[in-house]
Amino acid sequence: MVDRVLVTLDGTVRDPDEPLLYADDIGALRGDGVFETVLVRDGKACAIELHLARLRRSAEALDLPDPDLGQWRTAVETAAKEWGSEREGMLRLVLSRGRDSIGSTTRAGSRKPGAPAAPTAYVLVAAVAERVQTARAEGVSVITLPRGISVDLAQNAPWLLLGAKTLSYATNMAALRFAARMDADDVIFTSTEHRVLEGPRSTVVIQRDKQLITPPSRNGVLPGITQRALYAEAEKAGWDCRYESFFTADLITADSVWLLSSVTLAARVSSLDGLRMSPPECADEIAELVDRGIARTWSGADWA
Ligand SMILES: *Cc1c(COP(=O)(O)O)cnc(C)c1O
Repeated sequence: MVDRVLVTLDGTVRDPDEPLLYADDIGALRGDGVFETVLVRDGKACAIELHLARLRRSAEALDLPDPDLGQWRTAVETAAKEWGSEREGMLRLVLSRGRDSIGSTTRAGSRKPGAPAAPTAYVLVAAVAERVQTARAEGVSVITLPRGISVDLAQNAPWLLLGAKTLSYATNMAALRFAARMDADDVIFTSTEHRVLEGPRSTVVIQRDKQLITPPSRNGVLPGITQRALYAEAEKAGWDCRYESFFTADLITADSVWLLSSVTLAARVSSLDGLRMSPPECADEIAELVDRGIARTWSGADWA
């Protein structure tokens, strides 16, 4: 059983222990690129069309060349097949601006000086982190942290790339390490107005009776695929699903708070800023709705 799979966009399966990036890759130098993280379950990349559509949207936000989704789809299928169906995997799509100061290769193989570099693109599958099973089964302890921005910024400051999944995640990872030092598992970012934004790698959804609420993307949060999958199934099951702004205080008074993300799926917040939150009756139902939502067949048009 392989423990990692690496596939480049030309469809080649590569040795994951062989070097792939150049030292001057702009993804490494500046974090200038985009990515997706996808769950491999039963040998398939879950909700892949939604991920491909968001990859295209993120690339557009960074003025990267429009990704060839057919090539990506093939590389993902190859990687998921290599990984197999015995266990879950975490599949990453990585797309960076490519090499600094190297022109793109022409068809004849010569370099065009001054032309934009060819993007770096690959698919990498690895085992799912151990914390994932615990988060699904027992939930996560969370602290709220200020992100230091207003919800108005998303509309007025497109250079902040708030709706794109970019490779610049150093501050997100620093927030998670800060949380770990406070003995917490995860973080919910808040705006300068004390509005709830998102986690460093997840979407926040709160539940009250038969209602689900998540902050709208215009507040500067990444539109979440797992949240979208949950909403699609929950609506069919009679839930009232909303995109509305809410405040930190609303987290405490909710019946339950969830962090949703493609690999961990549904992690219930079991404590918030030190306050214990007990599981609601519908906890299993929410987890099942997410499972069903990501297993269904999506089309790119569903991401519009
Ligand atoms: C990836 C991510 C999400 C949500 O993830 P999905 O995998 O689409 O469910 C939310 N917020 C941030 C910051 C993320 O990076």
